[in-house]
Amino acid sequence: MSTARYEPVIGLEVHVQLKTQTKVFCGCANDFGAPENTQTCPVCLGLPGSLPVLNAEALRSAAKVGLALGCRVRSFTKFDRKNYFYPDLPKNFQISQYDLPLAEHGRLAVEGGGVSREVRIKRVHLEEDAGKLLHPEAGGSSLVDFNRSGSPLLEIVSEPDIFSPEEAYVYLTGLKLLLQYVGVSDCDMEKGTLRCDANVSMRPAGTTGLGIKTELKNMNSFKAVRAALEFEITRQTGALEAGERLVQETRLWDEEKQATRSMRSKEEAHDYRYFPEPDLPPFTFSDADLEVLRRELPELPLARVRRFCSTYGLAPKEAAVLIASKDMADFFEEGAHLFQEVKKVAHWLMGPVLAQMNARGVSLDQLGLSPASLVELIRLVEDGVISQLAGKDVLGAMLDSGKGPAQIVKEKDLAQMSAEGALGAIVDEVLEKNEKTAADYRQGKESALMFLVGQVMRSTQGKANPKVAQELLRKRLTS
Ligand SMILES: [Zn+2]
Repeated sequence: MSTARYEPVIGLEVHVQLKTQTKVFCGCANDFGAPENTQTCPVCLGLPGSLPVLNAEALRSAAKVGLALGCRVRSFTKFDRKNYFYPDLPKNFQISQYDLPLAEHGRLAVEGGGVSREVRIKRVHLEEDAGKLLHPEAGGSSLVDFNRSGSPLLEIVSEPDIFSPEEAYVYLTGLKLLLQYVGVSDCDMEKGTLRCDANVSMRPAGTTGLGIKTELKNMNSFKAVRAALEFEITRQTGALEAGERLVQETRLWDEEKQATRSMRSKEEAHDYRYFPEPDLPPFTFSDADLEVLRRELPELPLARVRRFCSTYGLAPKEAAVLIASKDMADFFEEGAHLFQEVKKVAHWLMGPVLAQMNARGVSLDQLGLSPASLVELIRLVEDGVISQLAGKDVLGAMLDSGKGPAQIVKEKDLAQMSAEGALGAIVDEVLEKNEKTAADYRQGKESALMFLVGQVMRSTQGKANPKVAQELLRKRLTS
């Protein structure tokens, strides 16, 4: 690869839908899963004479995100009109924020995938979403659903601080996790509650200026963002090395072709003619207001990773897996309070429980497992009542039936034979049948012992506690 002569500079613009009860400037339900055009009113349909009223919950959620991102939240903020025409925007302007965004100058610690640094956040502002255009497959006229029109949307813009597609991917994953912890959005890219545009330019390696950038749109997953950036970096590098002049343009990602294509160049770019929204007064936050919001913030993902490492002695990688979903992290903590060997709880969660979630295609809360019943199962394994392997089967049976682990062990007769009396007879029998192997062991062939343990397991249909069987055999053979 000859990309070393040039290095990419990437900035990301993320839009997240806030999951408030009602829309941002009217009382309509914020529910665009409802039948088309049933959640509308004169305000979100943009009818003349209707007046917007700001949803306080949306403003508070937006400010919380600003605080979680370490931004300076403005004590005085206002809304502006961004003028443009598009069929999904009935007013012909969007209420957004221009020169006084709600929050600025934040940072997001980006950790994972070999990346560990901070990306500066340029701004966070609140605006309204547009309607959704529907293009019937049979052809004919396009339709528009205004249920989404006026939904609260948060725009989060990074500084051009990202230097590889992988870093972009890690940034997006971290941002999504943060937003889910703050609890303001589902951040589901497939449902459109999180959308991401990226801009990327190339500059000679080791310099600090910015090259001609392209803006990338139409990516439907974080993987698509990474793929689009990789494609664009290769394309721009090739053009620069061939001595071609790049143009500032917007390009669309084509998922099927795994390529970008030009949508519009800068000459066609919009002039939005921003001006202050005359129908909404400016809004103010006092220090006390911000302090209340700050106190409402939960422990954020990175802080939680650090605490899991220091309090429970987990490795950073283990902690990162557990906190990747807030439910999983909460479940672990509850389990850790019930069982002293917290690492065992962590390993059961990251191993067998995660495997069950993946196999069943469900989230942890859909699994129907409680921390108490998982800990009860772990105890049965640790006390030697059942083997580790049987424990995994019991977990599956618990999830299938909703029964407790002890009941399943009893019903399926899975308890291990640990009693020396019962096992002793079988051990004697095995030694009688395998005199030669026993002799081999006495002469120093260590592997012979494992063979004999295997025989004991076989004649008990796997129910012997292998540890006890091994001890009994060793005792008999060395006495
Ligand atoms: Zn409405």
